[in-house]
Amino acid sequence: MKTALLTHADCLRHVTPDGHPERVARLEHVLHALEPLDLRRTTAPLAADDDLLRIHPESYIRDIRESCPIDGFAQIDGDTFMSAGSVDAAYRAAGAVVRAVDMVLGGEAPNAFCAIRPPGHHAESETAMGFCLFGNAALAAKHALDHHGLNRVAVVDFDVHHGNGTQDLLWDERRALLITSQQMPLWPGSGRADETGAFETVLNIPLSPGTGGAEMRAAYETQAFPRLRAFKPELIIISAGFDAHQDDPLANLNWSTGDFAWITAELCKIADELCDGRIVSTLEGGYDLNALAEATRAHVEELMKAAR
Ligand SMILES: [Zn+2]
Repeated sequence: MKTALLTHADCLRHVTPDGHPERVARLEHVLHALEPLDLRRTTAPLAADDDLLRIHPESYIRDIRESCPIDGFAQIDGDTFMSAGSVDAAYRAAGAVVRAVDMVLGGEAPNAFCAIRPPGHHAESETAMGFCLFGNAALAAKHALDHHGLNRVAVVDFDVHHGNGTQDLLWDERRALLITSQQMPLWPGSGRADETGAFETVLNIPLSPGTGGAEMRAAYETQAFPRLRAFKPELIIISAGFDAHQDDPLANLNWSTGDFAWITAELCKIADELCDGRIVSTLEGGYDLNALAEATRAHVEELMKAAR
């Protein structure tokens, strides 16, 4: 069976002001890099409001819909903008992860990658921030737990920024283990090691500026992977941000493309041991277009190698 690729052209209709790092060209580069790969290409549906209600209150969802401008931009916070296509893009992004979970748990695909934007891991229950509108990764976890009846789901977030939104949404969810590594100090400032969740199901791994591949691998091997194996998830969700890459302009970690391949291969190995290889990965950050395209391709190629 092939790795599934979920995306939708609507994700290119979420436009940001000139010079904004989270731009349409990111997804264009990602899709171009994935074009030659033999993937099961699947159109992302629009999320249903009932899906979004698993993570956001109705008033927040309504606010997002009503904030969408007819033309030009609406500024939601210091660095989060919406254009006319943003609501559709956000509903496709959320719909992609829900469908990906359905496919992987339904046996239609061994694993899946969602090439979507806007990203999601900074969106808190009632707060859009950091280019994110809906909490895609947390939604994937809640959908797997509440709709499919799983008992344990893990989210691994290797984006260079702290997944504060996913942490907020899963803070008191004892059925979900969140493992998130991030450069510290760096925006948004949260993600200290002593932030461990209401039920000790959050593992924060702060990394100093300049952290390269060897130190990252050691941190994952000594902290993340043992926790993951002990938790025994039935599904692994990856918040795949590629802004820890050495070429990324927004942060100062020094991971190579090979490091992203390594971490993906290791997660595939663990998923194979624990949960029949079931992984749903969703795109978060990554702001150097070439590094983003190359690292995403390396990530998806590892998912493909693990698919059977
Ligand atoms: Zn990021």
